[in-house]
Amino acid sequence: MRGDMVLAWSPDEEILEQAECGGAVTSLLKFALESKRVDAVLAIKARDGNRYDGVPALIANPEEVINTAGALHCVSPNIARCLKEYLDGAFDVKIAVTCRPCDARAIIELAKRNQIEMENLILVGLNCTGTLHPVTAKQMLREEFGVDPDDVIREDIEDGKLTIGLKDGTEIEKDLAELEEKGYGRRENCRRCEVGIPRMADIACGKWGANGRKATFIEVCSQKGADFIEEAIQVGAINVEHPDSEAVETREAKDREAIDSARKWQEQDFVDLRGMSIEERFTYWTGQFSQCIKCFGCRDACPICYCLDCYLEADRGLVTEGQVPPDITFPIIRIMHVADSCVNCGQCQDACPAEIPLARLVHMLNRELGAVFKYEPGMDVSAPPPLGTVTEEELDMAGVGISLS
Ligand code: SF4
Ligand code: SF4
Repeated sequence: MRGDMVLAWSPDEEILEQAECGGAVTSLLKFALESKRVDAVLAIKARDGNRYDGVPALIANPEEVINTAGALHCVSPNIARCLKEYLDGAFDVKIAVTCRPCDARAIIELAKRNQIEMENLILVGLNCTGTLHPVTAKQMLREEFGVDPDDVIREDIEDGKLTIGLKDGTEIEKDLAELEEKGYGRRENCRRCEVGIPRMADIACGKWGANGRKATFIEVCSQKGADFIEEAIQVGAINVEHPDSEAVETREAKDREAIDSARKWQEQDFVDLRGMSIEERFTYWTGQFSQCIKCFGCRDACPICYCLDCYLEADRGLVTEGQVPPDITFPIIRIMHVADSCVNCGQCQDACPAEIPLARLVHMLNRELGAVFKYEPGMDVSAPPPLGTVTEEELDMAGVGISLS
């Protein structure tokens, strides 16, 4: 059944009522716990009902899974980092993890570095059309939508529109491109993201292709995912039917549209950086990096930064103890360390108090390295990161101007 597609919905009235897209994901997570396939579920829930403050929730009681139902667009918790740092990489516990594409990709990159045990995970991938920074989202809701952010109970991004639902049942829709021209809308990294469907997960769940029905379109992406879905169907944990060709075509068309839009944003975001001469680039980036206050926020937020013994610590001899602002090579060292494996999650840029466009730079470098090495980070756990395996000879042949020595 790997490679199969189903339209799925929950048979549970309470879940149908509370969850989105027919509640299939909530029912699958509940089933994963009830069937003891996993010891826990890791998902996102709103903290104290505040939809601008989502936190990872580790759940062992199937009855509590419903608290994670519903999409939160204004939060982007660092699920991969949470798994690695706080759940010891899932080496001793089986977990079903809900993950957006960048979360799943970061998990895969960490698994390659033996930081996460993939065997113990079921990756329940969630389609993503982008996330909004909670601070700018609230400002946008007040200034552009004219509403109190606390009155919003739902957001949706589809077909170039951002739609919000209010407590009184009102819906307001705005053109996403116009909002983004004004500096609102999705986080910068999300606008550039080409990966809306998390096919690197075990299953990829979303509404593209559901065509207005209260159902979730599920793509089965691995044998583990296939076994999971088949058992869930057999015990009646989800109701399913096969999507018709129109549903599949709609899904593909929406994916293509999202990719086209992401590439336009990449052009726009990278054009200034690429258009500069070497001297202009140097002046621009030294200006940016000279604002660094060496807070280590970017390193600590980056899911790919995994070294226990970090070269950026003063006692490693590369960085001078007590020097603030640090030498401009400080951010450069970190960026070069992750450039081949960056999954464009944007966590580094969100964390930077100096507002240095870190994710923009590292994403651009990653695209350039990816083109040279034919490497897409976080897509395939068996593909090693190129800068970890490349030879001096290969670098010479590629003409990328990097030396290993
Ligand atoms: Fe995410 Fe930044 Fe790390 Fe890339 S470098 S994976 S954007 S935190
Ligand atoms: Fe420097 Fe920004 Fe990184 Fe802090 S988050 S160390 S200020 S680049």
